[in-house]
Amino acid sequence: MTVPTEEEQRTLPPKQDFSGWYHEILWRAEIMDVRYPVKGLYVWYPFGFALRKQVYGLLRSLMDRDHEEALFPLLIPEQEFMKEAEHIKGFENEVYWVTHGGTTPLDVKLALRPTSETAIYPMYALWVRSHADLPLKIYQIVSTFRYETKHTRPLIRLREITSFKEAHTVHATWEEAEAQVEVAIGLYREFYRTMCIPVLVSRRPEWDKFPGADYTIAVDTIMPDGRTLQIGTVHHLGDHFSRTFGIQYEDTRGEQQYAHQTCYGISERSIAAVISVHGDDRGLVFPPAVAPVQVVVVPIIVGSRKEEVLASADGVAETLRNDGLRVKVDRREIRPGAKYYHWELRGVPLRVEIGPKDLDAGVVTAVTRLGAKSRIPRADLAEGVAEILRQLQDQLLARAETDLRGRVTCAATLAETAAAVKTGVALAPWCGSRECAEALEQQVDASMLGTEVRGYGTEGTHGPCIMCGKPGSPALVGRSF
Ligand code: ZN
Repeated sequence: MTVPTEEEQRTLPPKQDFSGWYHEILWRAEIMDVRYPVKGLYVWYPFGFALRKQVYGLLRSLMDRDHEEALFPLLIPEQEFMKEAEHIKGFENEVYWVTHGGTTPLDVKLALRPTSETAIYPMYALWVRSHADLPLKIYQIVSTFRYETKHTRPLIRLREITSFKEAHTVHATWEEAEAQVEVAIGLYREFYRTMCIPVLVSRRPEWDKFPGADYTIAVDTIMPDGRTLQIGTVHHLGDHFSRTFGIQYEDTRGEQQYAHQTCYGISERSIAAVISVHGDDRGLVFPPAVAPVQVVVVPIIVGSRKEEVLASADGVAETLRNDGLRVKVDRREIRPGAKYYHWELRGVPLRVEIGPKDLDAGVVTAVTRLGAKSRIPRADLAEGVAEILRQLQDQLLARAETDLRGRVTCAATLAETAAAVKTGVALAPWCGSRECAEALEQQVDASMLGTEVRGYGTEGTHGPCIMCGKPGSPALVGRSF
């Protein structure tokens, strides 16, 4: 792998050209390599994978509070996959099929999971026996495959989704499943808040819900070009799948009942969001909570005191590591300026510089990724750095929230909606009809994303539907990825 030179780093397109910036930053910062010779499949570089490890470590820690992790097979027999009619309709054009074992045609075709309901639920039918087995809350983090025909894009639109966290829960009643939907939304909000990513939560229109679900709640954020990115979904499945797959439990009166289910997923789009929401003209900016490297120590090596400075840098790193931080010492024999570029590009939240002057003064110089410079007494190093990282985390969240708020417009007319979706989303009154949604989508070149919007400045406008004039309630309209 080649490390881009300083000169190459300087040619990162400005973030204003978001598409160009995104494309370049992924390889320059060594997140994804796009040169793998299959469309829609990408390679995680070690640094990208280290980021993935942090983000998914956070997600796991949230899920593990009251879910159990498991692992189901990648291959799904055709007859199981074809059982749920709506589900098939939703996915039939996207499924990869395994048809041969070597040169022998298979008796039963096998689907590469596009999602795992039909792999998991036949097993749930065996596992769930009585009300005492409920609720059942299981998740897995796996690759899923979808034959995307639209323009593919690393981390955003993929044929192999490499990091699909899918949770599947089973409950006694519809109401208990509904409560779980809210729990899941809460988990997702916390996940994104920890990564300083503000989100908008809404209920997708009937025709846009998950195939086979009663309803779908989606979590979106807004990307720098004003387009929305769906970064999580939560589905109430009712008893559709339990009836199809025979997931029944014996209730307290000894009668057999069909269970009610939910499922909810997050993919590496969560990582696309971290990269896109926080990055700037100089490269990535990672929130300390998920930064693969939280602190880089740069020894300023001058002549005779080289060994002394290097020893001090190692000592600083050790102190910070003992405090639980992820730290790197950049001992390379290159100019400090080149090291600064290197680590700024890679989003490291804090740089600690140590030179002879710092040694003499008993301090280190700390510079955050947003450019704030301070001196920390060596004696208070751990506390000082922890405080700076806490502040930076708050600062990134506040900055992202301000940006998102500025992109949410309450619109009362078609013209206002059309203007709003150029830079963000509109909240416009809508009557709920599909005809109005489709006409609206055509006229403003954006999508009807959902209703019952929760988030920032989303109180919205109740009033006449901007298309037909019938009574309407606020709906989220935006251009989406
Ligand atoms: Zn209408």
